[in-house]
Amino acid sequence: MSLLVVGSVAFDSVKTPFGEAEEVLGGSATYFSTAASYFTDVSLVAVVGEDFPEKHITFLKSRKIDTEGIERQKGKTFRWKGEYGFELNEARTLDTQLNVFQSFKPKLPEKYRNIKVVFLANIDPDLQRDVLRQVDSPDVVACDTMNFWIEGKKDSLLETLKLVDILLINDGEARELSGEPNLVKAAEIIKSYGPKTLIIKRGEYGALMFKDRKIFAAPAYPLEAVFDPTGAGDCFAGGFMGYLANTMNFEESNIRKAIIFGSVMASYNVESFSLDRIKSLDYRELESRYREFKGLTHFEDLS
Ligand code: AMP
Repeated sequence: MSLLVVGSVAFDSVKTPFGEAEEVLGGSATYFSTAASYFTDVSLVAVVGEDFPEKHITFLKSRKIDTEGIERQKGKTFRWKGEYGFELNEARTLDTQLNVFQSFKPKLPEKYRNIKVVFLANIDPDLQRDVLRQVDSPDVVACDTMNFWIEGKKDSLLETLKLVDILLINDGEARELSGEPNLVKAAEIIKSYGPKTLIIKRGEYGALMFKDRKIFAAPAYPLEAVFDPTGAGDCFAGGFMGYLANTMNFEESNIRKAIIFGSVMASYNVESFSLDRIKSLDYRELESRYREFKGLTHFEDLS
């Protein structure tokens, strides 16, 4: 099954304690669609400026991502600049330049309109709804966001959340969005905004799923070397949604598997800057790390 994503395609400048990268390929939709492309067909909606090199589009196409929904407009591509301290869990945003995203009015190619699984990656919540309005009748809508929009466009974000089935955010964002420091209470508040399923990503501490009254906890893969966490959340979402779109099974047991595939993609992504590591993975590498996750948390029942 196909998966539709709208989000940012960007140039990122990132500094970590282990090095820095200037104006490398990034953006929520770029990471998401690359990760998801290991599981399903992906159709991408975004905007880039005149300065965006064709080689990046060629790369996305090489991952069999449909790029017909990427518009090229006059002006500069979206830019994000961030840095991480030694704990590597949360980026400090130094600069956000919306550029061509400021005047972007997404227009979906006709063939995207009947796609059944939609992911609204981190982008202006107005644009997220613009895209949803153009999709005929999606089976599942999932969404991501960040503090930039929680602080800057909360009312619009709450409108978007009314239309969303699955929300994926990190722990800091969950606390900020709900105004509640305790994550279990925060999850209940956020679910009352619309999404029936909430996934809270906790960086190196893994991820939590809240669905109905149930909670599932997945660890993060214990890596020896984390190089650059940029895009980990988007890769998590890409593996998660890609697996769900591939199987079209949204039952809790399958959502648990999707969370592990999300964690697998995120763990590979943080091993290098930009998309360097996830550009060319082998599906067998994904399966083998999936099995390692199983081993990590397996324990015998009480007799
Ligand atoms: P993540 O590390 O998964 O949370 O996402 C990092 C990506 O989000 C980077 O590649 C940025 O280009 C992108 N990004 C940062 N700020 C924004 C924003 N305000 N809107 C959309 N995308 C953003």
